[in-house]
Amino acid sequence: MPAGRYAPSPSGDLHLGNLRTALLAWLFARASGRKLLLRYEDLDAGRTVEGSDNRQWQDMTALGITFHEQPVYQSQRGKEYDDALTQLRERGMVYECFCTRREIQEAPRAPHAPPGAYPGSCRQLSEAERARRRQERNPALRLLAGVDEYTVEDQLLGPITAGVDDFVLVRNDGAAAYNLAVVVDDQLTGVDQVVRADDLADSAPRQAYLRGLLYGSDAAEAVSYAHVPLVVNGEGKRLAKRDGAVTLAELAEQGISPEEVRDQLLGSLGLPAGDLQQALEAFDPQALPRDPWVWSPA
Ligand code: GLU
Repeated sequence: MPAGRYAPSPSGDLHLGNLRTALLAWLFARASGRKLLLRYEDLDAGRTVEGSDNRQWQDMTALGITFHEQPVYQSQRGKEYDDALTQLRERGMVYECFCTRREIQEAPRAPHAPPGAYPGSCRQLSEAERARRRQERNPALRLLAGVDEYTVEDQLLGPITAGVDDFVLVRNDGAAAYNLAVVVDDQLTGVDQVVRADDLADSAPRQAYLRGLLYGSDAAEAVSYAHVPLVVNGEGKRLAKRDGAVTLAELAEQGISPEEVRDQLLGSLGLPAGDLQQALEAFDPQALPRDPWVWSPA
């Protein structure tokens, strides 16, 4: 069975924006006959909060969001990321990068380079130069990208075209970087539907390009994307934990039950309150609201 997935970082409790995205991932997967998988993106050890994986799972369960399999933890992979890297290395598509953030910001770049794109400073370093710089700093590993941009089709946004630069595959602390881990995990778990918040829309072309490089263009083209609108606070900014009572635990302290939260989230999507099964019957991706949902405390 093909699969969708929800892939939170276990960096604390899920807030209403995360929960709404999880609900949408469940609806999109079920409505298209897919299973839904859960993946904890815990490669950034400094951000991982112990126990938050289980709390996130409990909160989703309390809303009726269920998963088909045991969760995958990115931190328990390693070999799979290494294998993908080896494949790219053997094709001469990986190089070491010694740049600091500041050097990247200050480097001269081509007139039409997309903002934030890596200017390729370390592409042409000689072996001697690399050996010298390795003494000073651990390198990150970057992809030698063969395109400047790439396009994916999104169910809600239409075509998304974004720049593909020489993005990082392995960080300079040795951990697999976000884009590599996402692509390898999605492929290995049979994911062909990606539903997530639309602040990640720009990463979809990079990921699709990398998936095509590693697993062939059929694998890349099979993926269906839906980037869903964010939940924002009264100032129009992405909802964050500092925006008051925004997690199930905090809302429960105010006497608001998980069922009431579920109904509020469903209402924000134009779906009927109550059991998720009913919402599923009424679910039509094309009828979803396209604007951010502004959340204000009751
Ligand atoms: N871990 C990311 C997040 O929590 C989501 C990554 C993805 O869905 O590809 O925002």
